[in-house]
Amino acid sequence: MKYDRNSLKAEEFINDEEINDTVRYANEHKDDLELIDKILEKAKKRKGLDHRDASVLLACTDASRIRKIYDLAEQIKKDFYGNRIVLFAPLYLSNYCVNGCLYCPYHIKNKNIPRKKLTQEEVAKEVIALQDMGHKRLAIEAGEDPVNNPIEYILECIDTIYSIRHKNGAIRRVNVNIAATTVDDYRKLKDAGIGTYILFQETYNKTEYERLHPTGPKHDYAWHTEAMDRAMDGGIDDVGIGVLFGLDNYSYEFAGLLMHAEHLEAVHGVGPHTISVPRVKRADDIDPDDFDNSLDDEMFCRIAACIRIAVPYTGMIISTRETPEVREKIIRLGVSQISGGSRTSVGGYCEEERPHDTEQFDVSDNRTLDEVVNWLMRAGYIPSFCTACYREGRTGDRFMELCKSGQIQNCCHPNALMTLKEFLLDYASEDTVRLGDEVIEREIGNIPSSKVQDIVRDRLTRIVEGDRDFRF
Ligand code: SF4
Ligand code: SF4
Repeated sequence: MKYDRNSLKAEEFINDEEINDTVRYANEHKDDLELIDKILEKAKKRKGLDHRDASVLLACTDASRIRKIYDLAEQIKKDFYGNRIVLFAPLYLSNYCVNGCLYCPYHIKNKNIPRKKLTQEEVAKEVIALQDMGHKRLAIEAGEDPVNNPIEYILECIDTIYSIRHKNGAIRRVNVNIAATTVDDYRKLKDAGIGTYILFQETYNKTEYERLHPTGPKHDYAWHTEAMDRAMDGGIDDVGIGVLFGLDNYSYEFAGLLMHAEHLEAVHGVGPHTISVPRVKRADDIDPDDFDNSLDDEMFCRIAACIRIAVPYTGMIISTRETPEVREKIIRLGVSQISGGSRTSVGGYCEEERPHDTEQFDVSDNRTLDEVVNWLMRAGYIPSFCTACYREGRTGDRFMELCKSGQIQNCCHPNALMTLKEFLLDYASEDTVRLGDEVIEREIGNIPSSKVQDIVRDRLTRIVEGDRDFRF
């Protein structure tokens, strides 16, 4: 198999030999300061880096250059995403699953875990609970099970989610994280009005992939790896990729992840909308110590920084798998979206206490959404509940063009302030309201156009009067 980013064959665009060569090259040059400086200069142009150059930065051992990598990642984050952080929550629909993934407690052989699938009435209750927290953007999750969770079930759930209007609440964007499927099914998801289709590769190493997925349809490496091409063929132009760090060597995964992004850009003209960086966590019958590729917080943050530099236009997501401390550090380096107030069990949002019986993983950040919003503002960020782009038809290459021209900033900033105001009025605690109003007042002044500032002031008044859902 020869490396070819334009190929539609998994083993050609994610080519094992090319990845091993890249990792070897990066290790050979990890102390080559002249080369590292050249790559950093290239990166400063904010056009991104290819997997080879980015891998050299990841392998770099020189303390002063590592500092420069972090500084540049922070600067790129500020330039492209400002100080906004978009918030979302996962919604687990069903933990029935026919796959045998060794790192997930929903694997078919786990007979201890209760199996649950939400009815439409239960979906509605979960959505009301999420709306009552203040969420506007969800990522739905379900195991792979053609009998219990067929595509019709997923579509019905999406319809239900979009249909619920509770008080001032509404879920305005549903992202979907379900198993690799057919072009026809992706078309149906597109027609149902989904935001991003998310599918983690778990590991790009085919041998490891097959070992970690011993049974079930997910065992097929090519079917899984080529899923995003089918999704795009089905009309979904915002796709989210990611690996589960800890399963295989991080340098290998990092190169594979970037090669996947390069492939999507080369073939479809648009790279991934988001990249997620989850790490293996403890859960029911899963012990992260069983996986010997775990990486420390320092290297985890370095990976995030190098991703930020390599693909400046791609959003980066971090979940509540990570502690507040790690989240704070990594947000600075390039993360643009985080989950908040998450429950990772089926039906978890309707329970008074966080239930653990059907959890997919242990949550390390147990704060409520209000606490997360408050914390973000204290750390200098604007929490945003914006969902404007796909609702305004800004997806795929239209989104990327706007992003690359810098024009998107004129939408993100005012949208963040207006959706934050909605949150303050409808869901926030007293202290968060006080803090939030100060943030909004201060940040209006940072909108470059005075005309847009005036529009935002007018809309904020109308939000106080009861109007909702303004967007640029
Ligand atoms: S990772 Fe997904 S496919 Fe694998 S067992 Fe868990 S729910 Fe099923
Ligand atoms: S305007 Fe678009 S890119 Fe900006 S925060 Fe909203 S949805 Fe995201």
